[in-house]
Amino acid sequence: MNDFEYLEPATVAEACAMLKRYGGEARPYAGGAYLSIVMKQGLIRPKALVNIKKIQELKGIRFDPSEGFVIGALATHRELETSQLIREKLPILCAVEREVANIRVRNVGTVGGNLASGEPLTDLSQIFIALDGRAKIAGPNGSRIIPVEELARIQAEQTGQQQGTPVQYVPYPVGLPAAPAPVAPPPAQPAATPAKP
Ligand SMILES: Cc1cc2nc3c(=O)[nH]c(=O)nc-3n(C[C@H](O)[C@H](O)[C@H](O)COP(=O)(O)OP(=O)(O)OC[C@H]3O[C@@H](n4cnc5c(N)ncnc54)[C@H](O)[C@@H]3O)c2cc1C
Repeated sequence: MNDFEYLEPATVAEACAMLKRYGGEARPYAGGAYLSIVMKQGLIRPKALVNIKKIQELKGIRFDPSEGFVIGALATHRELETSQLIREKLPILCAVEREVANIRVRNVGTVGGNLASGEPLTDLSQIFIALDGRAKIAGPNGSRIIPVEELARIQAEQTGQQQGTPVQYVPYPVGLPAAPAPVAPPPAQPAATPAKP
């Protein structure tokens, strides 16, 4: 593993400024589930790690009737899997989370890290895209909300064109629409005609 600077911003704005200062040679660091492996293997050699784990505004899972789910980038897979709120309102997400990796990865791996790892279509990217999820992403010039589908495309392009170039923004929070529309029950079938003897 290469030597690197270690930075601990307290806010998203600070994190963005730190990432900008390194001009593409720094990486956000969340749970480290993915980053620690690729750094040990020498596949990524950042000059700085920007540890975002202490940023309060990236934490938590909440539901707002008008906004829908707001899932902080630092929410772990395990938090989603065991969240009473998610279980009640979006059980499919709990079901997907139960299948992600193993309990050790789920305990530390975060939503932001899953969406930003550059891996094509992770489990969470797929489920959020299917649910029309949006992600709030922040950069040095402010933040914007984009569909998770667009985030996945940006990730794929960055990974393909500029291998090793870090993500320059901090997606937070991931806002899902309110519970998906209930599926209409199938139309009643006409009573079966008794078979003729
Ligand atoms: C053994 C193993 C098995 C796995 N199995 C699955 C699986 O079955 N399904 C699946 O979907 N995924 C799987 N993964 C991927 C895993 O879910 C993600 O790697 C994990 O969520 C990463 O989160 P993290 O917080 O540890 O990210 P980190 O390792 O800290 O970072 C990962 C990447 O994302 C960037 N990053 C992290 N947070 C942010 C942020 N908020 N904003 C911008 N960039 C950020 C980092 O700079 C880095 O490039 C697996 C990973 C491992 C190691």
